[in-house]
Amino acid sequence: LSVIDAAEPSVDAFLEVSRDQALEQADALDKRIAAGDTEGLPELAGVPIAIKDMIVTRGIPTTAASKILEGWVPPYDATVVEKLKAAGMPILGKTNLDEFAQGSSTEHSAFKPTRNPWDTGRVPGGSGGGSASAVGAFEAPLALGTDTGGSIRQPSALTGTVGVKPTYGGVSRYGAIAMASSLDQIGPVSRSVLDAALLQEVIGGYDKRDSTSIPKPVPPLAQAAREGAKMDLKGMKVGLVKELSGDGYQPGVEARFNEGVKLLQDMGAEVVEVSCPHFSYALAAYYIIMPSEVSSNLARYDGMRYGLRVMPGEGVEQTAANMMAATREAGFGDEVKRRIILGIYALSAGYYDAWYGSAQKVRTLIIRDFEQAFQKADVLVSPASPTTAFKFGERMSDPLSMYLSDVATIPANMAGSPAMSIPAGLSDDGLPVGFQFFAPQMRDEVMYKPAAALE
Ligand code: GLN
Repeated sequence: LSVIDAAEPSVDAFLEVSRDQALEQADALDKRIAAGDTEGLPELAGVPIAIKDMIVTRGIPTTAASKILEGWVPPYDATVVEKLKAAGMPILGKTNLDEFAQGSSTEHSAFKPTRNPWDTGRVPGGSGGGSASAVGAFEAPLALGTDTGGSIRQPSALTGTVGVKPTYGGVSRYGAIAMASSLDQIGPVSRSVLDAALLQEVIGGYDKRDSTSIPKPVPPLAQAAREGAKMDLKGMKVGLVKELSGDGYQPGVEARFNEGVKLLQDMGAEVVEVSCPHFSYALAAYYIIMPSEVSSNLARYDGMRYGLRVMPGEGVEQTAANMMAATREAGFGDEVKRRIILGIYALSAGYYDAWYGSAQKVRTLIIRDFEQAFQKADVLVSPASPTTAFKFGERMSDPLSMYLSDVATIPANMAGSPAMSIPAGLSDDGLPVGFQFFAPQMRDEVMYKPAAALE
């Protein structure tokens, strides 16, 4: 808490610090330990954690960094939060994000931008810039994020932290505010691969309250990370994804990435090139599917159920429809409105097949690309972000340049497969570079081993 006090004025990672609750939880754990009641406590018991404000926490305001939810205090905990509490992990507070997790820089937060601890004139990435900066600035040893198109991995790449998007369905989404439900996944942010593995083991597993949760146990992630720390990768095949390099990738990022590949080779891995031709269409298809789901999910913010309500006019003008329109006009920011409009258009009669239908077909082709690549290699690798951290304002006036921040991360969301970013040193501009690993669905442990070997 004292590190948070010292760092927050320059980093602004938190929207809310839940000081009292964190201290109460720590006290409760101390009492449990003093009473000898330690059964079932995991290795991470007592380690505090920050939570992206896209995940609901009972009694702690949850806003998704949107004015439309300002002042809303959830009456329940997300499944992952219940699990953290049961594990004796005190909750430090809620971290900043782009409004409703839509963005790649945290500049779309309705409340404030978060700064990158490596250079406070630069963005920490997004949407989970708050969680990544909190961990990068040593304000929290661990954090949770949500990753719909890269919102855990891209900020981790830009802040020199570890960020993991687990297999879709591997971690319960119950209590994660929905952005694009077929792509959203909760995952860890940490400073080491083993920490991420231990955290994913705490939050993962089947949950009957999430209909897309997979009824299988969490794979042995910490074991894989410990195995990887021995730095012996003999027998492992690493696939270099041809489409995720070249044009648009900063030379300093490619240089660090290539050195990482060389190190994997030095540890005994065999490196092969693989081609995933449909990855080139992933970004375009994502910007049809994601806004379609956003437009549907965000219909619930109607001024009736949560947070903000704006009542326009007088007398007969005060209809429910006018109230809804005025609330949404005042409560949503420009980027969120842009996506709702895009989504409604893509789903509308006469356009549905041409846009949404085609995008879903591309999604299937991306899944097949992954399946074929995993016949040639055990894990796939690429840079996690094509560039290092950019300056504030640099991509705000050009949404397409902002969207391009996620070219390398989106394919895994489209396929529902796991991926992670780990720090790979600094580019020539002195800023962190992220190295990405992809693994097959429900085989998250497969990426933890080489990741732990390389870090
Ligand atoms: N930056 C991407 C977007 O703006 C990803 C967001 C996310 O993963 N939540 O949609």
